[in-house]
Amino acid sequence: MREIDLHIHTTESDGTCTPAEVVRLAAQHGLRAVAITDHDTAAGYPAAAAAGERLGVEVVPGIEISTELRGPVHILGYYIDPQSPALAPVLDRVIRDRDERNRRIAARMAADGLPVDYDEMRRRFGAAIGRPHFAELLVELGLARDVKDAFDRYVEKGRPYYERRRFLSLEQAIGCIRDSGGLPVLAHPFQYRLDESGLRALIETAKGFGLAGMECRYSGYDEAQTAYLLALAEEYGLFPTGGSDFHGAVKPSIALGSGTGGLAVPYAWLEGMKEYCRRSG
Ligand code: AMP
Ligand code: FE
Ligand code: FE
Ligand code: ZN
Repeated sequence: MREIDLHIHTTESDGTCTPAEVVRLAAQHGLRAVAITDHDTAAGYPAAAAAGERLGVEVVPGIEISTELRGPVHILGYYIDPQSPALAPVLDRVIRDRDERNRRIAARMAADGLPVDYDEMRRRFGAAIGRPHFAELLVELGLARDVKDAFDRYVEKGRPYYERRRFLSLEQAIGCIRDSGGLPVLAHPFQYRLDESGLRALIETAKGFGLAGMECRYSGYDEAQTAYLLALAEEYGLFPTGGSDFHGAVKPSIALGSGTGGLAVPYAWLEGMKEYCRRSG
């Protein structure tokens, strides 16, 4: 059943649809519920929730936080309170760290003679600017075919305009989501290129920090992969979630709700999350 999509990016981070547009699209696709999970910000929630009220789509507040534990690990947070003193200052710091890194990228580009003005980018793209926005500019300047090409040649690690940024630790990300009343979930477990023992070690570590769920349906994951993740989730007492990781026009192969075609996430999974909320008080 294609009923919900719990992994969506908007113009508040690196997606191309506004929060209200996402909800309109969800209504058109007949989705019952969506969660907006922008990188490092929940700023899209109020507009999405208002649109959801009008259109009869349930909107879940969410976020996606990039962390580092040996390699990158992304943690989704649902039912967070972004105003919580446990979360707001942490997100402020992440955005400041992003900003500081972004200014270094912009300065490098400007030093090469590219017409890149970071304050102008801030006006155009908002606060949660990332490498995808620089990639978009490089495409507009005719230096890359598309965002992926721009990543491969300019902003990926090892490329001329790559600059490191500081990440929260896995423990900090899971902790601040929990402390703000939210549910921490391990995003897209196959994206980290871990073998089975590596993935189990990651899950066990994250569980130790308070992980509550795991993304078991995701764009491009087939039925066998989903079954494998569902068995792991069950074994570790994690509730399953699912979503497309929709980004709009910058990732045109991923559709809201249906992902690369075969994605289908049942509403019952959202009920499972609410049940977990009730039990953990
Ligand atoms: P940042 O957090 O600003 O360093 O940017 C990382 C974001 O860029 C990720 O969350 C992805 O959405 C996107 N991204 C990373 N690698 C690629 C790639 N090769 N092609 C397109 N988008 C990418
Ligand atoms: Fe993204
Ligand atoms: Fe992610
Ligand atoms: Zn995502």
